[in-house]
Amino acid sequence: MAVQLRLKATGASPGIASGPAYVEQQPAPPAVPNQPSAVSGHAELSAAIEVAIHQLESLATEADAESSDIIDFQIEVLRDPTISEMASARITAGDNVVFSWVGTLDGYIRELESAEEEQLRARAVDILDIKNRVLAALSGTPVEDFPAGSVYVGKDMEPSRFLAHNWSAGGGIALYGGSVAGHVALLARSRSVPMVIGAGPFALASGQEVRVDGDTGLIVLQPGRDRPLPARSDSLPMTAPVADNGKQLTADGVQTLLFINLNAPDEIRSIDPSTTAGIGLMRSEFAVTSLADAVNEEKQLSIYRHALEWAGGRSVTIRMFDIGGDKPMPGLAAASDLRGIRLLFARPEITRVQVRALLRAAVFGNLRVMLPMVTFPSDVDNMREIFREEAAELLGRGTPHRLPPIGMMVEVPAAALTLDEFKTADFLSFGTNDLSQYLVACARNDIDFAGLRERSVPAVLRLISYATKLAGIRPLSICGDIAGDPRWTGDLLAAGIRHFSVAPPQLPAIRSAIVGLKSDGTRVAGE
Ligand code: PEP
Ligand code: MG
Repeated sequence: MAVQLRLKATGASPGIASGPAYVEQQPAPPAVPNQPSAVSGHAELSAAIEVAIHQLESLATEADAESSDIIDFQIEVLRDPTISEMASARITAGDNVVFSWVGTLDGYIRELESAEEEQLRARAVDILDIKNRVLAALSGTPVEDFPAGSVYVGKDMEPSRFLAHNWSAGGGIALYGGSVAGHVALLARSRSVPMVIGAGPFALASGQEVRVDGDTGLIVLQPGRDRPLPARSDSLPMTAPVADNGKQLTADGVQTLLFINLNAPDEIRSIDPSTTAGIGLMRSEFAVTSLADAVNEEKQLSIYRHALEWAGGRSVTIRMFDIGGDKPMPGLAAASDLRGIRLLFARPEITRVQVRALLRAAVFGNLRVMLPMVTFPSDVDNMREIFREEAAELLGRGTPHRLPPIGMMVEVPAAALTLDEFKTADFLSFGTNDLSQYLVACARNDIDFAGLRERSVPAVLRLISYATKLAGIRPLSICGDIAGDPRWTGDLLAAGIRHFSVAPPQLPAIRSAIVGLKSDGTRVAGE
C-alpha cells in the first residue's frame, strides 16, 4: 500500500473534506483587458445578439398575437444594422463590448422615453428588455467549473470561480499559496467549505484522493487509498437555531444585535431570517460577478429585492461594489490599482446602474447602502450626490424608488482616525480585514499575512476603541472577520460595539460568547 503523505500548511476555513483532486494546471487567466481587441469585441457582440434573436424566435412560437408583435419588433431592432453599427463604432474606438452595447441601447431608450407619442414611449421597455437579453448572453460563465465534490488544488483561486462552483456535493480547497484573509478564504468560511492554504507546490495528479483538514491545516495525499473516505465535508450548521431576531443580551442585560454577512445571494436559502437581526453586510461584488450583470439594472434589482424580501422588514445593508485588488471583476480594467469607492467614481457606467438598482430596491424593504473603502468625508458626499441625481432621473421616469440611508465601511485607517469628520455618513461599520492589512503594511492575499493578521489584532482593537469615541451617536457595527471570532468579543464589547455582523456559521459561537460576558467585556464569575 502506498504511504500517506501529510503536508502541514495553514487552515483557512474549518472542517474536513475528502475527494478526488482537481489540479489547476494553468495560472489564473488574466482579467480581460479594459480594451479588448476590436475583432473579438465585434464577434462577441454578434454572437450575443444571435443568442438573443434565437431566444426571441423560440418565444414567438408560443406567443399570442399581441406578444408576437412585440417580439417581432424586438427581433427587428436586433437585426437593425444601425444599432449594431453604432455599437461596433464604439468597440472600434476602443470601448469595452459591454459598455458599447449599453451605451448604444441606453441612448435609444432615452430617445424613446422622451418621445411625444405615447406609442413610441411605450416601446422603451421593449428595448430595455433586449438590452438585458443581450447582456445576459454576453455575461457567460467566467471560467470553466471543476467537478462537484472534488478538492480544488492550485496556486490560488479567483472569487468568481468559487462562486460559480456547486459546493452542495462537498469538496474543499488546498492552495499552494493563498491567504487566510483573502476573499476566497472568507467565502469558504461563510459556506463552510474546508480550506487549507500556504502548502507550497506539491506533486499531485488530478483524480488522486486528497484530504483537506481546515482545522489542523493538514493536506493528506492518499495514493492508492484502501478505505472509503467521507465525500462530504464535516461542516458546521449553517444557521443559529434561536428565533429571537438576532437579539442577544450580555450577562449584565445589555442588548446586542447579531446580523449576518452575506456573500452569494443563495446563501440565505438555508437561513431562517428570524434567527438574525438582518443582513449587516451584503458584499454585492460577490452577488454580481460579471461586467454584463454589473450594468444590468433589472438583474441587480431582482437580486437586491430578493434579499430584502427574505429579511421581511429587518435591516439589510448592501455594500456597493468593492471591486479591485483580489476581487477583480472579469472584463474590467486590471490595469489600475483602484479599489472600492475610488473605482466606483472612476466607473460611472457601472456605479450609476447600481445606484438606480439600489434606489428601486429600497421600496421593497429596510435597505441601507454602505460604501466600501471610504477614505475622505467628500467620498460620502459625492456618492450621495450621485444617488440624488439618479433619484431625480427615476422620478422623471415615474419609476418607484426611495433614497436609503447611506453609510460607510470604516476600513481605511485614515477614515477611522478622523471618524468625527464624516458627519454625513448615516451609519458606520468596521471592516477589520482591511484595517489589519493597512495597519501592518502587508496585502491580505499575501501568504505572510496569516501571522501578521493575528499580531495586528491589538492595534486594530485600539483603533476601533479610539474611533468608536469619534463616532458619536451614529449607528455603529462591525462586519470584519474579528466580529466572528469569539476570542475578541469581550474586547469589542469593551470598545462599545453592540452590533455584530458575522458569517452565518459563526453566529452560534458569538452568541455564546456574549452570554458569558458583561457589556464592559469582562467575564462573569465562573465562566
Ligand atoms: C473588511 O475589510 O473587514 C470587510 C468586511 O470587507 P471585505 O472583507 O469584503 O474587504
Ligand atoms: Mg474590506
